[in-house]
Amino acid sequence: MSDVQKKSALSPVSASARFLAADYLLPISAAPIADGAIVVDKTKIVAVGTKTELAEKFPQIKVENFGEAAIMPGLVNCHSHLEITAMRGFLDDAEADFYTWLIKLTKTRGEILTEADVKAAALAGALEGARAGITCFGDIGRFGVAGFEALKTNGLRGVVFQETEFSPTDKTADEDFEKLTDKFLELRAAETALVKAGLSPHAPYTVSRKLFERITDYALAENVKISVHAAESVQETDLMETGAGFFADIYKNSNLEWNAPGVSSIEYLSQIGVLRAKPLLAHCVKVSGADIELIAESDSRIAHCPKSNAKFGHGAAPLEKFLSRKIGVGFGSDSVASNNSCDILEEARFATLIARSAANGNRFLAAAGIIEAATLGGARALGLDREIGTLEAGKQADVIVISLADIAQQPVHDVYSALLFASNARDVRMTIVAGEEIYRDGRALKIDEAEVKAKLREISAKMRE
Ligand SMILES: [Zn+2]
Repeated sequence: MSDVQKKSALSPVSASARFLAADYLLPISAAPIADGAIVVDKTKIVAVGTKTELAEKFPQIKVENFGEAAIMPGLVNCHSHLEITAMRGFLDDAEADFYTWLIKLTKTRGEILTEADVKAAALAGALEGARAGITCFGDIGRFGVAGFEALKTNGLRGVVFQETEFSPTDKTADEDFEKLTDKFLELRAAETALVKAGLSPHAPYTVSRKLFERITDYALAENVKISVHAAESVQETDLMETGAGFFADIYKNSNLEWNAPGVSSIEYLSQIGVLRAKPLLAHCVKVSGADIELIAESDSRIAHCPKSNAKFGHGAAPLEKFLSRKIGVGFGSDSVASNNSCDILEEARFATLIARSAANGNRFLAAAGIIEAATLGGARALGLDREIGTLEAGKQADVIVISLADIAQQPVHDVYSALLFASNARDVRMTIVAGEEIYRDGRALKIDEAEVKAKLREISAKMRE
């Protein structure tokens, strides 16, 4: 065979194509592959298989072998608030009283932190995610632009949901809507292939019915993703169902009129049409069987944030029921002010342990299904499962490598179990988003980590003054 013929027999890839191999490869869409490999070219996955198979097909590419490690799709964090990263640990003393916690957060964000501080903190939060193998965020922000820029600068993927301000009355709905869409349109104009803009009407107890309706109509007409905090706490349930309790007192003290709909948050969102837009619902702790049906039938999605829910003492959302009903559910860290880490492996582990220990648990969750929720589930929750969430030829190359070589992870009898029960964010060796390596072996490749940390220290000192 002449050299020319030999060349044409090779599978065509560009000179920058990469061949990654490891002891395990988890496509998620198929069973784990021992001695697996993946070929990535530009932004996409070209091939997935065993190392031997791909070496025959792509002999021209140098093999990067990670050995005792797992190659898998990037983790998805589908509910975060990167803009308040500087408040990690800052509000813990107020946690027992949610009202005091909220006031301290709002005052700090509004009066102490500058816009530059919020942006710097969001950058640090996004970097924490990249280091933790998170390739895609569903981020919510009052200063949506902070999370938006943070994802871009770190080379991450995501949807940033511009959040409403406190707007519980119909009287100001038109004005509130104009202000919200102004901010949203600025983000939309700055969208990239990786970072998209969405809208977040905050919660049924802070957004008026009219504003909810305007946002929903707009989302449907303009094809905009929306995310809502819903059914998070017993206080929210009280306000919605009986018009009494903690939030009712706040409204009364602020001279705000509130007419309780007399139904659950999910039922309310269904009645006023919000579920038509298939929202990503964060939390869903206080949900009945009927609520779960409404979520499933409308193809709404859920961001499951078990650590944040537990830290506040809100309870545990019935993850096993969401999965049994085949709802698109992914994991969310919520803000690091209420977690205090952005580690999806830890979130997934906690979710599993809580679900298994629930006295009324009707399904024993297996490790494989949970790792699927952390990747493909999160992608479904954000409506991105056609592009990401599995390792398959043609999909976007959002790929991570997690080391399994530490003594604390050995021996590995089952790779899903080793990842879920014996690994965490600090075991991540490499993060690739759309083919671009953004983190490798302790080093951030897109930004200066020392600078980010120094800025965070400066901001935190100012907060404690
Ligand atoms: Zn949240």
